[in-house]
Amino acid sequence: MSGSARPFSRSLHPRGWTLWRQPRALVRFFLTIELAVAALTVFFAFRDEVTTKHWWQFAVLCGFALLQAEASRKIEKARRLITNAPHVNMTSVWVFAGVLLLPYCLAGLLVIIVYGHLWLRIQRKMGTRPIHRVIFSASMIMLCAYAAGGIYTAGRMLQQSHGWVSSTTTPVIIAVATLVFLVINNILVATAASLHGRPSHVLVSWPDLALEIATLCLGSLTALALDNVPYLIVLILPPLLVLHRAVLVKQLEELAITDQKTGLLNATAWHEAAKNELSRAERQQSCFGVLMVDLDYFKRVNDTYGHLAGDEVLKAIARMLKDELRDYDSAGRFGGEEFAVLIPDSSPTDVVSTAERLRKRVTELEVLAPTENGEAMITNLSASIGVAIYPSSGTSLEQLMLTADSAVYTAKSNGRNQVVTLST
Ligand code: GH3
Ligand code: MG
Ligand code: MG
Repeated sequence: MSGSARPFSRSLHPRGWTLWRQPRALVRFFLTIELAVAALTVFFAFRDEVTTKHWWQFAVLCGFALLQAEASRKIEKARRLITNAPHVNMTSVWVFAGVLLLPYCLAGLLVIIVYGHLWLRIQRKMGTRPIHRVIFSASMIMLCAYAAGGIYTAGRMLQQSHGWVSSTTTPVIIAVATLVFLVINNILVATAASLHGRPSHVLVSWPDLALEIATLCLGSLTALALDNVPYLIVLILPPLLVLHRAVLVKQLEELAITDQKTGLLNATAWHEAAKNELSRAERQQSCFGVLMVDLDYFKRVNDTYGHLAGDEVLKAIARMLKDELRDYDSAGRFGGEEFAVLIPDSSPTDVVSTAERLRKRVTELEVLAPTENGEAMITNLSASIGVAIYPSSGTSLEQLMLTADSAVYTAKSNGRNQVVTLST
């Protein structure tokens, strides 16, 4: 789950910290899930028969979950410093093992202990997540656990009543339970994100989905080990810790190449992409374009609506660039209100028509932004775009950048809101 990253900063909730300052629909959704989970948990607590073996397995899972959480506390803290977006934590390994082995009430208790520990040892100290969000996350996972547990129990009952071969059908039943856990979890997260007005958090990214699947697979192996050769559970810890560290490294890599305000490439990463494209164009004797995009009179936007609104405009420009460009084009932010676009392997005519299309899209933007007097719709934006094309505008990156920069100045002095192409 990617999206709005807040590197190394305390997260300030845009709609307030407390539950009652959230949108009404979101509060209703939180409370409905939480009440349903509480009712189910009480029901299971009275209904489930808990044996000594269950208590023993519960104690082992709790012990290992807390051990793993303590061992990787620094990694988890660093991940939460990089982004406060919903992210996959590794606790599902233990929770999913509990789903497969324990009665529902103990699986629910396991979630409460694991999330309680996460809050006490990490989130409370960092102040990155209010308690009501933690309660909702735990309730959501409990609901997923109960649904996946229900599927698993039903599958096992079918297996026994139909005399299905256990070695072939059990993996299928576990796979279906995994799928149910994943689907319900993602539906609940997406619903909360859309009620919260955070469209970027609605869809889970492929890497996060893969990570979720990996943790659930490890959970299945943990259950299998604990049920058959309990001491093997120790072997789950090293891959889990390594996986967790790898996730942090991936997040740090992304942080190193991303402009945090807009999610575009930062200047260093953009230059790297441009250098690669230059080598390719030299080898293949092809053309590529460099665009420098500078918003017109952006200072006025800040002066009229405030800096926060200005930031919203920059984000809207970035979204527009991502939408309009091809997957292999690269857009970067060069600080302030200047953007650079690399258009690989394109003819001069295509580069110029892309620049013209981007210019037109800027003028069509309507940005809803927060101001001191409530929300305002910002329109009438425009940009001056300087175009340089390899090889006619320069044969080195420095020459191309200088030419594109001069083209921007020419566009500004010619009256702004236009595309200017210069060759050497
Ligand atoms: P011109 O048409 O000549 O480009 O005028 P301009 O006002 O866009 O250019 P100028 O360079 O005078 O001002 C750029 C402004 O961009 C000044 C600065 O306050 C603002 N700015 C730079 N970075 C940010 C940012 O990250 N957020 C916001 N909101 N404003 C920024
Ligand atoms: Mg500028
Ligand atoms: Mg400007």
